[in-house]
Amino acid sequence: MATTLHHWQNGGPFAGTGGRFGDVTNPATGEITAQLALASESDVETVVGAAAAAFPAWRDTSLAQRTQVLFAFRELLNARKSELAAIITAEHGKVWSDALGEVSRGQEVVEFACGIPHLVKGGFSENASTKVDVHSVRQPLGVVGIISPFNFPAMVPMWFFPIAIAAGNTVVLKPSEKVPSAALWLAELWTEAGLPDGVFNVLNGDKVAVDGLLTHPDVQSISFVGSTPIAKYVYETATSHGKRVQALGGAKNHMLVLPDADLDLAADQAVNAGYGSAGERCMAISAVLVVGGVGDELVTKIAERTRGLRTGDGTRGCDLGPLVSAAARQRVSGYIDAGEAAGATVVVDGRTVRPDADAQGFFVGPTLFDHVDTEMSIYTDEIFGPVLAVVRLDTYDEAVRLINDNPYGNGTAIFTNDGGAARRFANEVTVGMVGVNVPVPVPMAYYSFGGWKSSLFGDTHAHGTEGVHFFTRGKVVTSRWLDPSHGGLNLGFPQNT
Ligand code: NAD
Repeated sequence: MATTLHHWQNGGPFAGTGGRFGDVTNPATGEITAQLALASESDVETVVGAAAAAFPAWRDTSLAQRTQVLFAFRELLNARKSELAAIITAEHGKVWSDALGEVSRGQEVVEFACGIPHLVKGGFSENASTKVDVHSVRQPLGVVGIISPFNFPAMVPMWFFPIAIAAGNTVVLKPSEKVPSAALWLAELWTEAGLPDGVFNVLNGDKVAVDGLLTHPDVQSISFVGSTPIAKYVYETATSHGKRVQALGGAKNHMLVLPDADLDLAADQAVNAGYGSAGERCMAISAVLVVGGVGDELVTKIAERTRGLRTGDGTRGCDLGPLVSAAARQRVSGYIDAGEAAGATVVVDGRTVRPDADAQGFFVGPTLFDHVDTEMSIYTDEIFGPVLAVVRLDTYDEAVRLINDNPYGNGTAIFTNDGGAARRFANEVTVGMVGVNVPVPVPMAYYSFGGWKSSLFGDTHAHGTEGVHFFTRGKVVTSRWLDPSHGGLNLGFPQNT
């Protein structure tokens, strides 16, 4: 009998009134493990209402007290993160060690947010004008909405909510309906850490819940992560309702290998970045551009490594797990069929994988294509599966042109031993996150994460100082205290003297 998962509001579970439910599945077995309550419009009202009611007191809670709660949350998370990793593996399918890695990357943002007193410090100018002082502050927005994708059930929400909460906002998180349990587990952890009721809330659901948040007058901002068409829709809808929006979209990440690169390192990293998390990462490498006649050697090295990978149930120490759903497996297999039909060379075929698993999970093994043409759908589309496409090119310039012409601009990497070439690449590539001999250049929490072009709508990236700015509004106060030297009427525009 599958359990029922509810929303979380005001410090406890909330069944809601939706009357609609979605299946939550274990992708390694195909088994339905829970029924998820999908929010109605009235549930959106209830949950946003709880967050709005909690805002005035949380906004006025001192920085010292807020920081204490954040430290307590960090300690609990650190002690119990293996539990959260197991929950992620059970609903997403990624292998347990990878799930643990995602929790650790989210924890780094919590640690960054523990420094909130320093991060929201303003400036002060004494005597900006004679006996007039000016100071700046950053204040919280109010209720903030976070809408997250299936592929990082813990890390992506944690890109946002630790900073939002630390800055004095209250949060409504709408997780992906495929992987809701991580958000509910984190909500309980906040309560245990001493966060007041209503500051962190979880609204489960689909488009009804999302649209409710995008249009609700009490929701001040939206942080969205997901596919590009939905990101664009979210950006346009929420900004037209007066909200501040950061909407992170899809990706097609290229790895450029120059002939002077260490080809063993490049092959290792192409495999790690192409097949890790079964390719379901927005920073996964999906196209390897190889320049200058080392294609045969590189493809041989990647193929050897790919053939040695173990695909299977994420609880069994395999290298990669299943895809998230039957639909995802069908979509990815369809791309492999299309690549083969279009004439690319299938070097390793993941359609025939024999997974290490007991049941009929949604498995596709790692797949390597060579001699891929840039017109083929395996090159043009975001596949979001364990498929690497090798494109052979003659020159560095051709490679950079391809990357810069791509509609996406999330991540990219260059592999070379030439510092000058690497520096030039970092300078001229139109992509938000660049790796030099590093294939998945996800920035640390104190830098900001975000792509360019169709990989991000809005101008503020996630976490780091940009995250602090996103979740706060600036205010400048100009003050003069009564002094016998002041007074008198002057209707002119104030001038500094
Ligand atoms: P998705 O766009 O299907 O879903 C994301 C969120 O939007 C979910 O919460 C979902 O419930 C909601 N949603 C889905 N359809 C909707 C609709 N029609 N109207 C309103 N809301 C809707 O994305 P996904 O499949 O969960 O995640 C994979 C995608 O996310 C990939 O494209 C990946 O590149 C992208 N992603 C990007 C980043 C980044 O940092 N740029 C990070 C992670 C994932």
